[in-house]
Amino acid sequence: MDKYNSRSTIKNTSFMSTFLIKNGNGKNRLSLRAKRFVVIIAVHLLFFLSFAIDIQILEGTLSGSRFLGFHLIDLFSIIQVYLATYHLSINMIIGAVTILSVYLLVGGRTYCAWICPYGLLSEIAEKMNNTLVAKGVIKNREFNHKVRYVFWAIFMILAFSSGYLVFETFNVVGILSRFIAYGWSIALVWVVAILAVETFYSRRAWCRYICPIGTTYGILGPISATRVEWNDNCDHCMVCHDVCFENQVLDLTKAKHAKSNKENGISHQYVTGADCTLCGRCIDVCHQDALSINFRLKELI
Ligand code: SF4
Ligand code: SF4
Repeated sequence: MDKYNSRSTIKNTSFMSTFLIKNGNGKNRLSLRAKRFVVIIAVHLLFFLSFAIDIQILEGTLSGSRFLGFHLIDLFSIIQVYLATYHLSINMIIGAVTILSVYLLVGGRTYCAWICPYGLLSEIAEKMNNTLVAKGVIKNREFNHKVRYVFWAIFMILAFSSGYLVFETFNVVGILSRFIAYGWSIALVWVVAILAVETFYSRRAWCRYICPIGTTYGILGPISATRVEWNDNCDHCMVCHDVCFENQVLDLTKAKHAKSNKENGISHQYVTGADCTLCGRCIDVCHQDALSINFRLKELI
């Protein structure tokens, strides 16, 4: 993919070409999307091999696992378990504190972009949705992204009132993770149905409006140490807006802020919105190199 995109050319970029970035001197390098896909595939290969040939490196699924013997548990899962049973084992608490510490360092919804297997499939569905919208076959349907907090509360109330992890019945991430580790199940039909909704009805609808796992990790985002950083090389071309499925977090790139930033001497700012997944798509396409992923631990302290 040529880094020197405009809003009109980015629409015609093929999905495969987004794995390589051609920079100013014509050299290709791997895009952040390519690096993410390698990480996602490697993590799930470890889940698969740990069960299939008993190598015992990463056992279990994304909801709860053991990495080299250390317990790990997804943060939304542990909240659900507590609400449903009023009990947590010591291993669960250790697993949750480990995951909490990791995501406070690496950026909250990094889970969605760098670990979640559904996120990978959803990006392919997103490209198809964008193409269908560009050709006028379907409409671009957007909703209030804050509806995710309503779904989050509903799934919590369901766990509390029923004593069961009701969300796990609908959880496309858990269904896919169990499929990768343990094999085929009829529940995959639900994953296909959700992907169809994202392709033909609304871009990234599950990730954007429904998934309470992403919402939980998002709560850590604003206080996490790793964030996307914007600088004033930005020419407000809005290409990053077009590629970002949570582009409400990129408000700082809009031209309307340029004057006040200049007056107040603001030359760089962090993207602190909870919904940023640190996917790096905005960085991959920014022709001004105005965005980067940076570690801001010193500034937080
Ligand atoms: S950050 Fe980069 S891609 Fe986004 S508006 Fe600024 S120049 Fe354009
Ligand atoms: S702001 Fe950039 S890194 Fe964050 S979700 Fe949007 S495209 Fe991805």
